[in-house]
Amino acid sequence: MGLLTVGTPLPWDDARKHADHVRAHGIRQFLNIWNNLKHRRRDKLLWGDEIEYVVVAFEGGNGAEKTVKATANAYEILLKLEERERLAVQAGEPISWSFKPEYGRYMLEGTPAGPYGSTLDHLLDVEPNMVARRKLAATYLGKNEALVSITNFPLLGVNVPTSFLEPSATPTPLDGASKSLFIPDAAINPHPRFRTLTANIRERRESKVSINVPIFKDVNTPSPFLEPAPTCMDGFCEDRKSAVRRESQSSRTPPSTVQPPTRQQTPTLPDLVPDAKPDHIYMDAMCFGMGCCCLQVTFQACSVEEARKLYDHLAPLTPIMMALSAGAPIFRGYLADVDCRWNVISASVDDRTKEERGIEPLEKSRFKIPKSRYASISTYLSPGPNYSGGCMSDPDVASPSVSSLPPAVQSHFDEKYNDIDLVYDKDIHKELVENGIDDMLARHYAHLYIRDPLVVFCEKLDLNDETSSDHFENIQSTNWQTMRFKPPPPLSPIGWRVEFRSMEVQLSDFENAAYSVFIVLLTRTILSFDLNFYMALSKVDENMEIGQKRDAVLNERFKFRKNIFGNDARRPAGFEEAPAGVHMNDSGYASSDAEDYMGDFSVDVIINGKTGVFPGLIPLIRAYLALHPSLPLQTLKILDSYLDLLSRRASGKIPTAARWMRNFVAAHPDYKGDSVVGQSVAWDLMKRVDEIGKTEGRIPGLSL
Ligand code: ADP
Ligand code: MG
Ligand code: MG
Repeated sequence: MGLLTVGTPLPWDDARKHADHVRAHGIRQFLNIWNNLKHRRRDKLLWGDEIEYVVVAFEGGNGAEKTVKATANAYEILLKLEERERLAVQAGEPISWSFKPEYGRYMLEGTPAGPYGSTLDHLLDVEPNMVARRKLAATYLGKNEALVSITNFPLLGVNVPTSFLEPSATPTPLDGASKSLFIPDAAINPHPRFRTLTANIRERRESKVSINVPIFKDVNTPSPFLEPAPTCMDGFCEDRKSAVRRESQSSRTPPSTVQPPTRQQTPTLPDLVPDAKPDHIYMDAMCFGMGCCCLQVTFQACSVEEARKLYDHLAPLTPIMMALSAGAPIFRGYLADVDCRWNVISASVDDRTKEERGIEPLEKSRFKIPKSRYASISTYLSPGPNYSGGCMSDPDVASPSVSSLPPAVQSHFDEKYNDIDLVYDKDIHKELVENGIDDMLARHYAHLYIRDPLVVFCEKLDLNDETSSDHFENIQSTNWQTMRFKPPPPLSPIGWRVEFRSMEVQLSDFENAAYSVFIVLLTRTILSFDLNFYMALSKVDENMEIGQKRDAVLNERFKFRKNIFGNDARRPAGFEEAPAGVHMNDSGYASSDAEDYMGDFSVDVIINGKTGVFPGLIPLIRAYLALHPSLPLQTLKILDSYLDLLSRRASGKIPTAARWMRNFVAAHPDYKGDSVVGQSVAWDLMKRVDEIGKTEGRIPGLSL
């Protein structure tokens, strides 16, 4: 989460009146950026990671009953870290870290103070920077507190036998920003932006968000799985129960599969809340998704064309990297039948009206919209009409050497890959095109701009469109997609950037560094060998669903492009063989036009390669590193250890964090085989996660 605006956010009924104003000025602000900066060239690779953390508090142990909670103290820690950063900057002291607010009051986000440099040697700065960040934040922890980088705090939203939050707070299903049955508003960062975002999503949607994750059916899990009604509804009269029901997206009567309770039976959650499905873990608040932690990587491209090219070629990798980083097998104290947070976070901010979701015919809403604003991308950008191969002559060590480049560089884009029926605002598209934006980029922004601004600050309505990008960013940064194309802010030294956003955070900094460095090395490898990952976006979407399944890395097959060599002259030595079914023609490999240009591959084959089938991303990265014979042995060794981690995860030799957690729970003496992750199991799990986070380097059984 970037810098927060100070001001008074408007409630939804007022904010919605300014939607057209924000959109109109947002587009003007983008056009100003474009006109001023479209010719910007030769920016260096600068890049940075974002790691999100949860602060937990342990109580008990040593014979006493164990409880572990997410603690609101994270927010106080953040304030101290921000103050320390401010003073250091003021005094001109060098610092390497920066901390930012996140959605949960129990969360922190850490980034490097400034971006990392552009050489391969700079890649070695990442892990020590992450370690230093974690250690620094830890100095502010209270007694019995720990800072952990876990995708989801396993007890988030659990209130029995005790609140998951420290200090304890009770959910208020008929009041406040979330109106959640499980999450008290005290769990939300107190900056007004976050509560307004929460309330405005709910109000725009005209119901609470509705999240149902399938439960993992273990040997003793009841079938159907129907959990008891939440304790915050204890003693609710019929009127209040009806009021709770009205907050659901569906006010229909309870599902027919559920028998009406007899007088003796306690009503179950699906009895009381129509949105709650049997055999699912039901969640009803933004916090369940935005309160999760992820790992994101942003890197600067040398030009807008290179940024667009990398945005496109990385998009098909987003589901693969999500599956390979899987770290969220537990939601609200239950083992889930998924390993990733993605669909949860997507549903947690789904502000679409019933008309937009296609449940009711369009009357008041403008578009029928197939996806939440937190979703996979729906259109490629292509490198643009003036594509010249970017700025390959940049003398960066990490960029390909000039002499190895053939004169012609291809964009590889073909309209057939954009096979999703894109919903976009035709008027905005027209305005952009009339102002010189090419069709592809115009469609991208006209698509993002089908959304309303969710948080509008009344002090920030009239802005100078030459110098501000606030209105532009308002819509841009609340389109939380798998990839983000980031134009330079006005009046700043920052260039065109791309963000890779699908990965789950890892438990240790060795792993977080490895995943981040992998993405950066992949960008260098794509550019260096002119790799082509284009494939139908509808298949990328299917891969996003497949990638979240339990143990997807081991068991699933993903559609992926078979022939990724876009240009014979740039194909690295040792990768001579054309993959099966792919033939050469005069202009290079012809597979891009063949019907069967995609194959069904495991993550292992995509990452590690298989002779005669697919070259593998890691062998290609190694070939890229081999282009730099002067690289110090120590650098190579460390980079190799990062690649080795991903390679072994992909092949299943070592588990993902999700699988590791499942094994931990299953082996715990207090686990009863009923899918319930209780306090004592969670306590021990979080203790172990804390130890792992504090361990530098590799951990046997997880990363070694
Ligand atoms: P977000 O927009 O995702 O909230 P930011 O853009 O503020 O986040 O930062 C994301 C990452 O980008 C950080 O790690 C930061 O260090 C890094 N970063 C900052 N400046 C640049 C730059 N010029 N090029 C690439 N990355 C940068
Ligand atoms: Mg963040
Ligand atoms: Mg980010």
